[in-house]
Amino acid sequence: MTPRGWALLTLAGLTVALVVLAALLIPWHRPPAPRADQLAALGDLPAEQVAKGREFRAALRPGGYTALAVGLLVALALGLTPLGSRLIELVARPFGGHWAAQAVLGGLAVVLVADLVTLPFAAWRQSVLTRYGLSTNGWSGWAVDLLKSYAVSAVIGAVALFGFYAVIRLAPRWWWAFGAGGAALLVVLLSFVLPVLVEPVFNRFTPMEQGQLRTELMSMAARDGVPVRDVLVADASRRTKAVNAYVSGLGPTRRVVVYDTLLTEATPAEVTAVVAHELGHAKDSDVAAGTLTGALGAAAAVVALYLLGSWGPLLRLAGVDSVAQPSAFPLLLALVTVAGLIAAPVQALMSRRVEARADAHALALTRDPEAFESMQRRLGSVNLGDPDPPRWEYLYSASHPSTVERIAAARAYARESGR
Ligand SMILES: [Zn+2]
Repeated sequence: MTPRGWALLTLAGLTVALVVLAALLIPWHRPPAPRADQLAALGDLPAEQVAKGREFRAALRPGGYTALAVGLLVALALGLTPLGSRLIELVARPFGGHWAAQAVLGGLAVVLVADLVTLPFAAWRQSVLTRYGLSTNGWSGWAVDLLKSYAVSAVIGAVALFGFYAVIRLAPRWWWAFGAGGAALLVVLLSFVLPVLVEPVFNRFTPMEQGQLRTELMSMAARDGVPVRDVLVADASRRTKAVNAYVSGLGPTRRVVVYDTLLTEATPAEVTAVVAHELGHAKDSDVAAGTLTGALGAAAAVVALYLLGSWGPLLRLAGVDSVAQPSAFPLLLALVTVAGLIAAPVQALMSRRVEARADAHALALTRDPEAFESMQRRLGSVNLGDPDPPRWEYLYSASHPSTVERIAAARAYARESGR
């Protein structure tokens, strides 16, 4: 069998593995709360809060979707015309067109162009956040964050680009197989190191202060059977008024993080509800499951790029001879951009199911649906969310159930458990 035949077989195998994983790991059986209950929850929220959240989300929308469209158009213009490959050759010319200069400097230049065209929309978004009082970091803080994120992406991107094109040179016929393995490994490695290497670039993390709340949270974690070394507090207030919490990392790098804004804005019972939700993610190994799915997805993407990128008409459009040459990188980036837009609603759907399971875990662990509901109200009012966003937007991009869904789920729990 030819390498191409093996690639087709591998892609089929990875696709089956992904479908089986998604079927097994995602809690599909949990239907959302009935719509009537959601509407009742919506009716109970202060009209002014609902209006303000909707106004804010509407203000973000034009810039957000225009940025998506512009990003797509530029990726297509660079990848499906010879523009991108010429840019790569131009950047590498001072280095005699060396493959490594094309791969790393050329590749980063293409990514930078694609980023810069959406920069005005990012600035516009920041101005909306400032106008609505959510942002606290000012323009200089915003610019520093932006430069830091460019720097982090450049480091990770340079390693990935160099590794990818070095593998292609070492194994010209079978690079897709090594590339797929390398991409999967990179995803796993990033899951381990992001919390300890990258998150501290943007925030300072301190162990939660000793006190009644911390004792309560640690004993809840112990009761839940989830070993947590510490609850970390992130200095999110330097950037935003928004409240949040998350769990990240794997094994020794796993941590539960709460924003300092959450501790100042919410009551202890509400903080407990949030941490109980995060413990649900830890207990169900959602980070590990996401990492495994991401690793298989990355491997499948490399194989698919090899197969699709070797297609004659696409290569002619991009003005390159082979998908394996560094100047074909813009073509790969265009394909990845399109695939990302197509995959977004599927990822959002899976994420919502997983989040609903963590909510159910929080309710069962705290047995305090009242605190859960007041936490949801607070999340909505402080973060200026639309408690019941437009259906199309919810289906395309919502990573969490809507506020009214979550409140309705808490009330259903209260009814069923007689609380
Ligand atoms: Zn969550």
